[in-house]
Amino acid sequence: MMSNSSIIESEEHTALRAAVAALGRRHGRGYDRETLWREAGKLGYLGVNLPEEYGGGGGGIAELSLVLEELGGAGCPLLLMIVSPAICGTVISRFGTDEQKRQWLPGLADGTLTMAFGITESDAGSNSHRITTTARRDGDDWVLNGRKVFISGVDIADATLVVGRTEDARTGRLKPCLFIVPRDTEGFHHSLIEMELQAVEKQFELVLDDVRLPAGALVGDEDAGLLQLFAGLNPERVMTAAFALGMGRYALDRAVEYAKTRQVWQEPIGAHQAIAHPLAQAHIELELARLMMRKAAHLYDAGDDTGAGEAANMAKYAAAEACVRAVDQAVHTLGGNGLTREYGLASLITAARVARIAPVSREMILNYVSHQSLGLPKSY
Ligand SMILES: Cc1cc2nc3c(=O)[nH]c(=O)nc-3n(C[C@H](O)[C@H](O)[C@H](O)COP(=O)(O)OP(=O)(O)OC[C@H]3O[C@@H](n4cnc5c(N)ncnc54)[C@H](O)[C@@H]3O)c2cc1C
Repeated sequence: MMSNSSIIESEEHTALRAAVAALGRRHGRGYDRETLWREAGKLGYLGVNLPEEYGGGGGGIAELSLVLEELGGAGCPLLLMIVSPAICGTVISRFGTDEQKRQWLPGLADGTLTMAFGITESDAGSNSHRITTTARRDGDDWVLNGRKVFISGVDIADATLVVGRTEDARTGRLKPCLFIVPRDTEGFHHSLIEMELQAVEKQFELVLDDVRLPAGALVGDEDAGLLQLFAGLNPERVMTAAFALGMGRYALDRAVEYAKTRQVWQEPIGAHQAIAHPLAQAHIELELARLMMRKAAHLYDAGDDTGAGEAANMAKYAAAEACVRAVDQAVHTLGGNGLTREYGLASLITAARVARIAPVSREMILNYVSHQSLGLPKSY
């Protein structure tokens, strides 16, 4: 339903969009995550952003976000694209050792390997400076202790990229260090968190109890700090925007179809402006958010990490808000059917809220824009 002008989007991108949308349509809302993941990986879609020398497509977050948006638009989003190729693949390809690149990137690119990402802790949600997962050196090894919450896909991921802090940086401003923790490492436990979400990916609590890792598990430099972390977090925001846009588009398409055919007076319900205008508004808001997502992706891919930071936050904000409103209006448009299992829209109400909360909440983005963009004083 979205219009694409070749002035705004290259022919390659339009062609990629069409090919991914066709794959998405073949799988549809009742998709099997594993089958779709495998197929998308084989077709090169999961690794479009990763370097060619490691089997990726040599593109960037612009291409990867487009893939996720189109799958979401067809009703079959792959949440782990936000973490596996976008965060973990980016961080490893930018900062990993040659050995880490050889070991992980080809698999992340073709989807045969998956990596989850764990930063959130129960006492350090929006304030990641408070994380307490600690890495202690022991000879050449590292020993990690800590807890994480809400970590997506740990059960299906071969490893988790865990954000901790070294023992000598245990307090104060976060100086993060990142470790690759294979799923079966001794002392690395995960337990399911029951969520009110109907999603094919689950969330887990992690316990790291004296998890011993070789020196080679540390990604990049223990002193690279926030720079390295943000190399992964900006793509995460752009990808969350893509996730939200896809969902919003899916819901809006269902509502428009319904509004064109459902008739309870002489005209289809879509003829009533009370139904049509909010759908038009949702369409406009999704389009606007999509423009901002493209801007953020292009800035990031061009190497402007600072410019991308602001744009990625704004894109995530705009897409999440547009998605929440589009889903709400879609459910309303279907009347009673908006709440039936058959039409499957009501569950998107909860799903859409995820984009407003994670990976950075609406309020934290407003804080960021108040301080960073507008120079207003900080309240916390
Ligand atoms: C489905 C799902 C999947 C997730 N997957 C992952 C994952 O794979 N890996 C991972 O590491 N994390 C993951 N998360 C965690 C997610 O990133 C956090 O939920 C998010 O960062 C918010 O943290 P919190 O839940 O602790 O909320 P809190 O930080 O406790 O915030 C609660 C509320 O207070 C507001 N608030 C907090 N501080 C301020 C302030 N200074 N000013 C104004 N308002 C404020 C927030 O905006 C929010 O509305 C996931 C979460 C969900 C729901």
